[in-house]
Amino acid sequence: MEMSSEFEWDGVLAAYGEIAIKSDVVRRRFVRKLMSNIATGLKSLGAEFKIRHKWSRIIINTPFVGEALSLVSRIFGVVYASPFKLVSLSELKDFIKSSSPKLLENAESFAVRVRRTGTHPFTSLDLERELGAIVKEETNLKVSLDNPDKTIFVEVRDDECYIFMNKFRGPGGLPLGTAGKVICLISGGIDSPVAAWLMMRRGCSIIPLFAYFPRGGDESDLKRFIEVIKILKKWHIGEEMPVYIYKHEHNLIAFRKIALKYTCILCRRMMYRVANELAKRTGAKAIVTGENLAQVASQTLYNLRVIDQASELPVLRPMIGFNKEESIRLAKKIGTYEASCMRVTSGCTPIKGCWARPPKPVTKAELEEVLELESKLNIDDLLNRSVESIRQLPDSYFKAS
Ligand code: ATP
Ligand code: MG
Repeated sequence: MEMSSEFEWDGVLAAYGEIAIKSDVVRRRFVRKLMSNIATGLKSLGAEFKIRHKWSRIIINTPFVGEALSLVSRIFGVVYASPFKLVSLSELKDFIKSSSPKLLENAESFAVRVRRTGTHPFTSLDLERELGAIVKEETNLKVSLDNPDKTIFVEVRDDECYIFMNKFRGPGGLPLGTAGKVICLISGGIDSPVAAWLMMRRGCSIIPLFAYFPRGGDESDLKRFIEVIKILKKWHIGEEMPVYIYKHEHNLIAFRKIALKYTCILCRRMMYRVANELAKRTGAKAIVTGENLAQVASQTLYNLRVIDQASELPVLRPMIGFNKEESIRLAKKIGTYEASCMRVTSGCTPIKGCWARPPKPVTKAELEEVLELESKLNIDDLLNRSVESIRQLPDSYFKAS
């Protein structure tokens, strides 16, 4: 993250967006959670800090400005974060005079932007002009109000003046943990980690569940899953994120034997059932998948209706309207893309699709037919085997390597 490194900032100021439009009671609760998530993250860095809420901003005083900035940029609810300096109104002009050469290093043009609340004998515009003249005198730089190389932002609140330069974008959304828990079926492919991240951004705390069905001992999917979880954990700040895995292979073998072309439908329905069971144990309120519409042959509206029927809880599919390149772009931004595309086994084998996928999966599944197949399959026994195999993966799997 680029920052004027020589300048000594007092800490990091974080602004929130959507939270501000909530009712008083909700806003207070959300701000409290936002601050506690930030504090949890900063503690885990071992950084010294003080955090407070003032003027609709979260103000973090810390000597670890770079670290705090990169942490706060991963906190859901934060719209932007900036390193700041705090001076009193009587010190403002002197501060601008002495610091502007350093603040505006390598710039050819500049602007000063003032926002002001409180009672003062001057307007924001008066102060902008006055400070602008001081900066010009000290630096000889051009003033450019339309397209400055660098902008000095000054926020005056009564007698306090916050000065900052760069706004680093946060993810926005709502504080993690304010919207309840969801079970996320995560494959280690590109879409499902993005789906999980989108739910986190809406305030959900996530519980990942991985269906384990390696063929011939090939652990590539599991390895990708673990790498993806490591990245998601970096965003999952302020709540526990237990990670689960269960055995799914026996299901696929049974499905392929009885109804090859229905394998994908039966597989999905089984995954939902296991996810529902885990939801009961953990208090989760919905199931999340990376399913899209019409991206692969089996993802049709007919099929979605039939697989939905197996889930008691709502199945949420945040990726439903995404184009492939959009999910790739977001996966890159989140940081999961590389892990999802990682070639694990050998340097040159490309990632193949699922081994259990039939050559011609049904695209118009009929519910009656599916229920009939399941009655022949002894679905409860298969489900029990999967449910009994549910295990929580120890945290040691996800330590940064
Ligand atoms: P992804 O990119 O997430 O793998 P996809 O577009 O490849 O999705 P599928 O492979 O058909 O689509 O999987 C659809 C969804 O089913 C996934 O997004 C995920 O939510 C879930 N899923 C698939 N495989 C697994 C698995 N091994 N463990 C847990 N969930 C899975
Ligand atoms: Mg996949």
